[in-house]
Amino acid sequence: MSIKDNLNKIQSSIPEHVTLVAVSKTKPISDLMEAYDAGQRIFGENKIQEMAEKYQDMPKDIKWHMIGHVQRNKVKYMAEFVDLIHGVDGIKLLKEIDKHAKKYNRIINCLLQIKIAEEDSKFGMSANEASVLLQSDQFSELKHINVTGLMGMATFTDNMQQIKGEFNFLNSTFNRLKSYHSYNCNLETISMGMSGDYQLAINCGSTMVRVGSSIFGARNYAN
Ligand SMILES: *Cc1c(COP(=O)(O)O)cnc(C)c1O
Repeated sequence: MSIKDNLNKIQSSIPEHVTLVAVSKTKPISDLMEAYDAGQRIFGENKIQEMAEKYQDMPKDIKWHMIGHVQRNKVKYMAEFVDLIHGVDGIKLLKEIDKHAKKYNRIINCLLQIKIAEEDSKFGMSANEASVLLQSDQFSELKHINVTGLMGMATFTDNMQQIKGEFNFLNSTFNRLKSYHSYNCNLETISMGMSGDYQLAINCGSTMVRVGSSIFGARNYAN
């Protein structure tokens, strides 16, 4: 099936309140343009430099989401244009994003990444760390960021019961934290679910799914 067919099939299988992020990492511009021409406007990348290059070369009505781990020294390459940063895991990174957003007179939307998987390799904050952060004085001073939700990555496993448990945990964390409402914190988004588990994620409360290989085909990291 073509990229367009894949997109249409996925779009028609997800409810209207769920946002589809087309994860285009490692894929060439021609593939992204096929998705663009089929109506897709939100693209997710996990490397800042790759995203910045694609941003330069592509239509300017695209919303670019940074879904990967963010190194503080690279925030400057995306501060001008990034629409949403999914993987924010601490106050230091938030401060850095705030600093660069200010230079462009922007407010950058961020999701706090919560560690929901058992694997040590996955990044993210604990639910309690996120709770402390959102109530801290340091956080309340950041005028150029807006925390709009939470993001999580489930364990890489075929065990759907385990994945479901991790998604439910993120959903309950979201419900616990969303009472912290302030000028720079409005929790509305739960970013969870990828190609193999986005239906399950939606059943567990996801409002934003990040789907790559089911749209663009398998990635080839060898070239
Ligand atoms: C690559 C990636 C995805 C998409 O994975 P697929 O299995 O190809 O859909 C989603 N989220 C993150 C954070 C990723 O790095």
